[in-house]
Amino acid sequence: MNQNLLFRRIPKVDLLLGREEIQSLIPLYGRCRVTEAVQEETDKLREELRAEIEKAEKRESLRKGESGRAEPSEAEKEAEAALERSLSERIEKLPERIRIFLEELFRPGLRRVINGSGTILHTNLGRAPIERRIAERLADLVSSYSNLEYRLSEGRRGERYSHFEKLLCRLSGAEAAMAVNNNAAAVLLILSTLASGGEVITSRGELVEIGGKFRIPDVCAQSGARLVEIGCTNKTHLSDYEEALNENTKAILKVHSSNYALVGFTESVSAASLKPLAERHGLPLIEDLGSGVLLDLGRYGRMHEPTVQEAVRNGVDVVSFSGDKLLGGPQAGIIVGKKCFIDRMKKHPLTRAVRIDKFTVAALELTLLEYLKEEGIEERIPTLRMIAETEEKVSERAERLLSMLLGSCRGAELSTLPCESQVGGGSLPLEELKSRALCIRPLSMSITALEERLRGLPLPIIGRVAEERLLLDLRTISDAELPELAEELKEVIG
Ligand SMILES: *Cc1c(COP(=O)(O)O)cnc(C)c1O
Repeated sequence: MNQNLLFRRIPKVDLLLGREEIQSLIPLYGRCRVTEAVQEETDKLREELRAEIEKAEKRESLRKGESGRAEPSEAEKEAEAALERSLSERIEKLPERIRIFLEELFRPGLRRVINGSGTILHTNLGRAPIERRIAERLADLVSSYSNLEYRLSEGRRGERYSHFEKLLCRLSGAEAAMAVNNNAAAVLLILSTLASGGEVITSRGELVEIGGKFRIPDVCAQSGARLVEIGCTNKTHLSDYEEALNENTKAILKVHSSNYALVGFTESVSAASLKPLAERHGLPLIEDLGSGVLLDLGRYGRMHEPTVQEAVRNGVDVVSFSGDKLLGGPQAGIIVGKKCFIDRMKKHPLTRAVRIDKFTVAALELTLLEYLKEEGIEERIPTLRMIAETEEKVSERAERLLSMLLGSCRGAELSTLPCESQVGGGSLPLEELKSRALCIRPLSMSITALEERLRGLPLPIIGRVAEERLLLDLRTISDAELPELAEELKEVIG
């Protein structure tokens, strides 16, 4: 086989760069990246050719070994001709491969997806979506200068928390507030500020792991506080707290068991019951609420999730919760509570390391502004809308999607099916929300192939596979997404 001849047929980089199809890519992607793309694609082609020659030669030497003949066989000549043909085809496709390479290189990796999983706060899918109207105002704010840390009334330095602190206080009833990068950072900051070098008392029933290696005992260790575990997994009494107190105790910590539930023979001590004890000993009572919600979800017929207002009313001195869980805002760790404690946290060196940026400040303020007027809040915060929506409303949307598809999706059997959505994000673990899904049973491809195709679309669709069917839960798909979703589904299963 004349290998050199084959390799020499692969065009030189300079030659390719001179071609019109490649030249036209330069204004789009820049000379440097286009040259790189040409280099990488021709290298790839050379590698492919090398591997194929090796394969062909192995086959031939096997054959020679069997027959004992050394001269080139008909089969070898044929293999060489086939190699040449496939090489010619690939050389012809080279400019196209270079164009696709560049297109993919320049496409943002972080993209919008359609969440058909039915999990409302899906950490892998970015948790709470923010209302488009808020997002538009956000874009305006962050694409110009702002008074992020500047007091317009006095013409001097201000505080980035000032834009939402008063709002948080009004909404929660707390004296002071701030926010950091996420709730994990909030807990770390609280313990570092209030309990470092001392002991913090926590019930064994509340030693939460929230995933991503975040465990309460580890965070506590990181903060320099010593965790004193009390009670048993299922039961902790007030006397357990009393007995653990000593001169080294610096705080009492309660953690909301946000992502699990203890049922049966259980007992825990409420913040309200702990308050007098903490007060008597001059200790701060801290509560990590996890999700933290500003309204009673019971109004939507859902289970009650402890609200931030309740924690404040119960006398908790420092409360922390996430911005992008049930609140439905940006990723943040919100801290509300007594001014004396919050002031110390604002001054702690760790705060600078976990501080929120202007995107978060803007999105948090705009989200909280929506909460000021309570009426119709579930229309303005997507997370609450999805939690509040009735089964009937979701079913209507499922039927609407089905009717948009019927007649133009011959590659699959389509129907709608009752299903259950989840709140997710480590919130309301026992709550199963009755919902409805579009059910796709593909006729000409496997269910895994369908699932993969949908994931690979320009606007990826994430579904749930259940017994040879793909389910798209309409609770987490909005009205506005239906036309795009229908178009894409028709493409794939039309
Ligand atoms: C989710 C959660 C956290 C962490 O919040 P992030 O905002 O994700 O960092 C901490 N504690 C509890 C109890 C949680 O549920």
